[in-house]
Amino acid sequence: MRWTCNCGQVELSVTPGDGTRIVCYCASCQRFANAFGAGDTLDPAGGADLYQTAPDRVTITKGADKLSWVKFTPKGPNRWFTTCCRTPMANSLGTRAIPFATVLSHNIDDKSGLGPVIARVNRKDATQTITEDPGSAGKAIRAFIWRALRSRLSGRYKRNPFFDANGTLIADGSPVDD
Ligand SMILES: [Zn+2]
Ligand SMILES: [Zn+2]
Repeated sequence: MRWTCNCGQVELSVTPGDGTRIVCYCASCQRFANAFGAGDTLDPAGGADLYQTAPDRVTITKGADKLSWVKFTPKGPNRWFTTCCRTPMANSLGTRAIPFATVLSHNIDDKSGLGPVIARVNRKDATQTITEDPGSAGKAIRAFIWRALRSRLSGRYKRNPFFDANGTLIADGSPVDD
């Protein structure tokens, strides 16, 4: 699958097959979209369509020098966006020790590879009543834990598109004050 920013200068390749598609209604995901003029990518209840996968399944194939990130809370994820056209792209953690990569599904070309939505999480922050099946947040968490364990045990966690060989974030960003 290919993720492309709105102007086409940044591309990710995402290997399907070991990922979890969820919709997150949390205020922080909504803030991310709205702050970057991408409120229209949220569903009617404010949900962000997210694809969680192993970091080594995500590769920056174009425009790695056109990335930055923001953090909205000290403990929250790094929220990556492109500097060419400010497209919200992905969420990661500040350390690669916990293998975690979430790509925002909206700009992925072939959504059939994402699989079905298995959970709608943080529904308390939804902006209207959600009528779709809430799915299973527990299932999504278990999928993440097993995926992270496999990444750690195999050493594949070191291949993380957001970190260089030394484990340093590949781009500067804007952390919030602690
Ligand atoms: Zn762009
Ligand atoms: Zn969220």
